[in-house]
Amino acid sequence: APLSSAGPVRTTCPYCGVGCGVLALPDGKGGAAVAGDPTHPANLGRLCSKGSALGETLGLGSRVLHPLKRNAAGDYDRVSWDVALDAVADGLKTIIAEHGPEAVAFYLSGQLLTEDYYVANKLMKGFIGSPHVDTNSRLCMSSTVAGQRRVFGSDTVPGSYEDLDCADLIVLVGSNTAWCHPVLFRRIQQNRAERGAKVVVIDPRVTATAEDSDLVLPLKPGSDGALFAGLLVHLTDQGLTDATYLANHTAGFDETLANARAIAPDMAAVASHTGLKLADIAAFYALWAGTPAVVTAWSQGVNQSAQGTDKVAAILHCHLATGRIGRPGGGPFSLTGQPNAMGGREVGGLANMLAAHMNYTPAEIDRVGRFWNAPNMARHEGLKAVAMLDAVAEKRIRALWVMATNPAVSLPRADHVLSALKGLDLFVVSENVISNDTLRGEPDFILPAAAWGEKDGTVTNSERRISRQRAFLALPGEARPDWWIICEVARRLGFAQAFNYPDASEIYVEHATLSAFENEGSRDFDIGAHSMLDRRAYDALNPVQWPVPAGRPLGTPRLFADGNFYTPDRRASLKPLATPALAATVSEEFPLVLNTGRIRDQWHTMTRTGLSPKLGAHISEPSVYVNPADAIRYGLTAGGFARIENGHGAVVLKVALDAGVPQGSLFAPIHWSAETASHARIGAAVQPLCDPFSGQPEMKATPSRILPV
Ligand code: SF4
Repeated sequence: APLSSAGPVRTTCPYCGVGCGVLALPDGKGGAAVAGDPTHPANLGRLCSKGSALGETLGLGSRVLHPLKRNAAGDYDRVSWDVALDAVADGLKTIIAEHGPEAVAFYLSGQLLTEDYYVANKLMKGFIGSPHVDTNSRLCMSSTVAGQRRVFGSDTVPGSYEDLDCADLIVLVGSNTAWCHPVLFRRIQQNRAERGAKVVVIDPRVTATAEDSDLVLPLKPGSDGALFAGLLVHLTDQGLTDATYLANHTAGFDETLANARAIAPDMAAVASHTGLKLADIAAFYALWAGTPAVVTAWSQGVNQSAQGTDKVAAILHCHLATGRIGRPGGGPFSLTGQPNAMGGREVGGLANMLAAHMNYTPAEIDRVGRFWNAPNMARHEGLKAVAMLDAVAEKRIRALWVMATNPAVSLPRADHVLSALKGLDLFVVSENVISNDTLRGEPDFILPAAAWGEKDGTVTNSERRISRQRAFLALPGEARPDWWIICEVARRLGFAQAFNYPDASEIYVEHATLSAFENEGSRDFDIGAHSMLDRRAYDALNPVQWPVPAGRPLGTPRLFADGNFYTPDRRASLKPLATPALAATVSEEFPLVLNTGRIRDQWHTMTRTGLSPKLGAHISEPSVYVNPADAIRYGLTAGGFARIENGHGAVVLKVALDAGVPQGSLFAPIHWSAETASHARIGAAVQPLCDPFSGQPEMKATPSRILPV
């Protein structure tokens, strides 16, 4: 039982994609003492500042504890679960009857547990018959998904965190790992200190990560593809490609190399694209070429780009050309942003995928439909996040259910998003907190969802490791797990038989069974060994890296060293890149590039980390970080206020000087909202331009201007 007094409960941190194991010891008064779990392979007992402060975030003061219904005056009345669930189901039925199933959509979150995600996707894609399920993971790593699917034929991270311990060279691209994946950064630092591993940091902004590195490459925004195209050319010209691996296990190398030569024929061309010094490019290429045990890891600087898919592919091309993949200490590595971005991918949380990594092909639609005995399978890909909210604004989508995320802060053009939400015929929000910016969008119903520490399920971290989140606190008020809320609505829509789960373990077992259903090694995601788990075994589940097929219960640390991929011909598919460039370039009117990102001690929109005084002490207020030369140029003073504006929106922030921000750029954190600092919601000033393959918006390069106020 999760509320055992026998000792600490083993669970998993609810913040970043490192997925650290946590020991939580309830105090019997609604709180808990928290420590790192020394047995969890992701963190081996370590926690960062955010994880260490989890115990400070468990109070109920900001929680929504009962179902709420909006009345004619715009206030909220407490209603029973039956009243709320009946009304949500009736509202969905009415809109489906009048406008068809594609008039309804779910917007989910990498904060949900895999079991919540699974039933949401099953309901929408198999029973309601709409493909419009997307998730805030679209803002996180969907370019990696698209890049890996293009090249590998599957959304597979080949390596393990252990590779960061035994690599001789670690290249961090577009990642402030020291702040955003701190426990992994400590592993990298340890490798550097004890084994002498070299660290290269590639990022336009010189961050805390660069302070502990051997080479810093502050390239121009948007030029990563040119740097890696140039590396591919260099490796070829130096005779360092693996001809046997290329011949036996890849397709498309010649066209890809010709394209790389057109983009970056030599280091001078790379210097022209990237603005880097020739000597630094040469040093990086020599290090990469001369170090077989190299991990190239990336995060949002690569993903949050209108060319994110190509950037990911450019990195994968270099690893494939040298056969440096799936080997201890060698391979490409996506650092996922959210605690369960990968678990959501596994069950089809993205609008362009079905459950168990299946695609919208006729055969796979049929397979999922037969497994679910689904009456109304969606037949084509759904709308991705930015397009989904545009469809809401245009009333093509009339009912939206938002779960565990705050799109009125986090999506590009956040003001537009907020006004679109207000126009919905039916707007439902499942939430932990009583107040946030999305709730200003006037939902018809606010449904109280269980929070971290109160719910049971699984999450998957950046190294494909499935871990249990376990409850150690009682459900407060009338809060319920997300999976329960979804299943109750499904029951009222007439689908009781397919959503009759007594607990999360049976959902997980169904998910595991689907992953192995008619899958004789044709898909990467297979956890068939878990299809026989009973409740006790599910409760005791140890962290394990998928695939976990029948007969391999200890999972799979690495893939692809054997050259077997998931494309139809089993070869990795290399393809030419578009010419590297930003989606929108600066102009006389908007001469600066606005970059957005995380700070060390806050998480997303601060609804949990904002409760910790300790975390608030690191950076207590939102600022725009400006290069000192630009501050002089634009008449800005440190500590004064400035207005950032562009064609999408405007924000007002305090000015902080930061020589690590390159001239011509601004940096602003993503965390503050209208709730926590009026006029500081940076999403209002982020452009909605998206990668054509992944649909991920370019959130790190919006042309803008800045004015003192
Ligand atoms: Fe949590 Fe990430 Fe920190 Fe680990 S590194 S404790 S998962 S926030």
